[in-house]
Amino acid sequence: MSIADINLLRGQPLLSPRSQSGSFWNEYTETMPREQLNELHLKRLQALLRYAYDRVPFYNELYNGVGIRPEDIRTLDDFNRLVPTIDKKDLVQAQAANPPWGDSVALSPDYYLYHFQTSGSTGTPLRIPFSVHTQLQYGEQWAYLYWGVGIRPQDSFYFAFPWGMYTGFWSAYWGVRCLGATVISGGGLTSEQRLQQIQLLKPTVLVSTPTYALYLAELAKELGIDTSETTIRYTIHAGEPGPGIPTTRQAIESAWGAKAYELYGVGEVGAIAPGCPDQRGCHFGEDQGYATVLDASGNPVGPGEVGENVVTSYIQMAQPVIKYRTHDLVRAYYDVCSCGRSWLLYEGGVLGRTDDMITIKGTNVYPAAVEYLLSDVAGLSSHYELHVNPGRINDEVTVKVEPKVGTSSERFSSMATDLQVVLKAKIGVTIGVEVSEPGSLPRYELKAKRFFDHRPKKV
Ligand SMILES: [Zn+2]
Repeated sequence: MSIADINLLRGQPLLSPRSQSGSFWNEYTETMPREQLNELHLKRLQALLRYAYDRVPFYNELYNGVGIRPEDIRTLDDFNRLVPTIDKKDLVQAQAANPPWGDSVALSPDYYLYHFQTSGSTGTPLRIPFSVHTQLQYGEQWAYLYWGVGIRPQDSFYFAFPWGMYTGFWSAYWGVRCLGATVISGGGLTSEQRLQQIQLLKPTVLVSTPTYALYLAELAKELGIDTSETTIRYTIHAGEPGPGIPTTRQAIESAWGAKAYELYGVGEVGAIAPGCPDQRGCHFGEDQGYATVLDASGNPVGPGEVGENVVTSYIQMAQPVIKYRTHDLVRAYYDVCSCGRSWLLYEGGVLGRTDDMITIKGTNVYPAAVEYLLSDVAGLSSHYELHVNPGRINDEVTVKVEPKVGTSSERFSSMATDLQVVLKAKIGVTIGVEVSEPGSLPRYELKAKRFFDHRPKKV
């Protein structure tokens, strides 16, 4: 069936691709030369600073407090140096002081299309208002991903997700609306019922957390269903690191007989970085925001160095976020990617959280760096845990890994030695390795817990 036929049957999609190219939703912005992107950023940042300063008391006080006004920002360098960063706790405090929305919003609730909130897994939830404009733009960023990897209006999406107050997959839904494809909701169903629906309704795209895609495939196997034989040809993930890491991507792709892609989003900011069609990581959507990568002291790190992603959104007009600390660790490159995109690339997606970073003898170690290396040892599965214990001089790190089903236990000790050698060579510090029986590490339904910090809490 052609796209024209689809449009006749289901109505026009909310948005259309802005380019004729097969692999770009909007070739003009996705391939814009760096110099032109920087000009665009400066214009949008200046307009956003003016908008926030005039309308949002939170920003007005913040900028007055450090002695800057919007007109002082004449270059990108001015923006990077002079504008202070903000953190989630600042917005949470603003909301707590004057509930429900505080003094950090720019639009009155009359303009809100949706109320969302963060999961609260790292503290008090942050309430997130969306205007119509924000929601549509947020959704469109998902359409960049869908279109870029080859998904078309003829496809149908299975959402294996409980929905709720979490904005990520609601926005993925709006992405499907932008594209014009079919949505099948797996909300409120058991995993067994979802598997039955997938067999019956024959969707081509599975949307879930990476952990849940693996969980569903393992459950299917127990029920005698081979998920690689279903109609699913693409799996789309968000919510935690996954397809950017080779072992996890291979595990999902072989379980589902599909290509696995991800989108890196931050609920209160946007679906900020659609995955690279060449599976090299995620590209920050530079027509919807601005990003810099900073070290622990707040100074920019060079290309290829790991640091914290600090982002500004051009689309969150209800509750603006300007130089927002995400606490996500990324490694950014600014060269044009093999997929043709000029948007900055977070290689391997999100590598971890700043809270999960461990420093041993001056070397930074984070969970995804370890996970990334599991594929260097043949026979290891994607399941692992990283444990940190206080040592006499340095903290001690141990990784628990699990071989693939069917691996002879006689190989366990050589696998442990091999992984230890790889970790020492690639990361530069000694990390203990424990090999557990296949299937013995806990399985998670929604998001996996990988990092276990046993050090005394700092007060
Ligand atoms: Zn790319």
